[in-house]
Amino acid sequence: MPPEIETGRVRLVGAGPGAADLMTVRAMHAVQGAEALLYDALVSDEVLALAPAACLKIQTGKRAGRASLRQETINRLMLRLARRGLDVVRLKGGDPSVFGRVGEEAAFLRAHGVAVEVVPGVTAASAAAAQFGFPLTHRGEARRLMLVTGTTRDAASAPELAAAADPQTTLALYMGRRALAQAAEALVAAGRPPATPVLAVENAGRQEAYAVRASLGDLSSLDELADAEGPVLFVIGEVTSQATVSEASRAGRRQASV
Ligand code: SAH
Repeated sequence: MPPEIETGRVRLVGAGPGAADLMTVRAMHAVQGAEALLYDALVSDEVLALAPAACLKIQTGKRAGRASLRQETINRLMLRLARRGLDVVRLKGGDPSVFGRVGEEAAFLRAHGVAVEVVPGVTAASAAAAQFGFPLTHRGEARRLMLVTGTTRDAASAPELAAAADPQTTLALYMGRRALAQAAEALVAAGRPPATPVLAVENAGRQEAYAVRASLGDLSSLDELADAEGPVLFVIGEVTSQATVSEASRAGRRQASV
């Protein structure tokens, strides 16, 4: 049962995919007014730069060689800072409600009498679609969008993938680097044609975004993303054939990585 007296407030804020102008105005104001900011590894420097100089900034995710904090530690930290009366912002990449543990963190805080407000953000799939010019749903072609994580054990062969066997499903695979091959195999086994296009997007929503095409039956072109440092999203489905992938940006990346 929540305690009767509420102390402090934490805002769980979506930073969007990286470019500061893809944040919501509410998210931007939250960061600009923050007294304590706990941010995860996906939050870009451009967004962090919006925080006031005096703001206490705590990095909670793996970044620049530093290890990530345990969830329990993050929860306790947010609680302590909120109880001090600080304006606490918990900043996450993309949308906090998409694989962002927003439910866990909000439940913990509320159980300890801290008010929680969630500010949505642009999720990686939306950013990738906008930037590379394809829709996530399309009349007559894609009537369903699935957001799936590749980290859960056996996620790639989980029964939910059966729904994605429907050719009218667009599947956005988050944290999917390791799971992609298995997911592709499971989808083909479930009846999705091997020719189904796959688009891998690194750093969606950022200037240095980079996309590579493949198909469910042949993922070999994605090898060039094996050393990608930025986050990578895989979008599987017919809609990605509408994507515009510029050869110029691809050449740029190849040169830059030499
Ligand atoms: N809350 C985030 C997702 C967090 S899970 C969101 O809504 O976007 C982390 C995974 O998201 C990464 O492994 C990657 O698959 C994907 N991701 C997040 N930001 C991305 C970006 N800018 N470009 C491509 N993929 C991204």
